[in-house]
Amino acid sequence: MKNQKQKEEITLKQAQQMVDDWIKTIGVSYFSPLSQLAQLTEEVGETARVINRIYGDQSFKKSDRDKELADELADVLFTLICIANSTGIDLADALNKNLQKKTKRDEKRHANNIKLKKEPYMDFADIVAIIAQAGGRRETVKIYYPKTARSTAGWREVEPYFLANDTGEAAEHLVYGEDRLSPGHIFNGYTLGSGDNHYDSFILGKIKAAKMTNQKFKPRFGWKVEF
Ligand SMILES: [Mg+2]
Repeated sequence: MKNQKQKEEITLKQAQQMVDDWIKTIGVSYFSPLSQLAQLTEEVGETARVINRIYGDQSFKKSDRDKELADELADVLFTLICIANSTGIDLADALNKNLQKKTKRDEKRHANNIKLKKEPYMDFADIVAIIAQAGGRRETVKIYYPKTARSTAGWREVEPYFLANDTGEAAEHLVYGEDRLSPGHIFNGYTLGSGDNHYDSFILGKIKAAKMTNQKFKPRFGWKVEF
């Protein structure tokens, strides 16, 4: 039992030493790095084979039944250690440095990932679908719009009236599901609480997110809802 425990707690340094001892006694000597690479590829392939049969769509063949994932992963680790040993690499040191590098790199990476930013962000197609759904039900919709000359960035509740290919009188009204919508098209709606009696025109591609409110609204006098 004590032995078993000791085996489980081997450090990377000890693992490299154990493999080295094994190679120098039973294995005689290391293969060349290129052969080791080929062997590593073989072992990765054998690991893939087991994973494909356990978790993938492949069915088990009789001959694969006794193949274990743990054993294949150990083969991969063994071969990896052989490569490290024969090229003079201290794996514990390399792993430490590698994790530090990843931490540094991923801090920046996640900070720049727009999907993780506090400001909401949804795909264009999902936003349009929500606006159209709200319009079809004569319900208001909340959209997150960036800063404009008249408002700060943030959520605003809007009565959806129509989609258009342009602003102004000449704008052609578009129908969700029939017309091909692009981020440059316009969503016209009345912003609740704006106090005026005009549509606001929102560029679809600038809307960062949308959500249903389930709040019914009655179209303003003479205003037609078209979705
Ligand atoms: Mg194997």
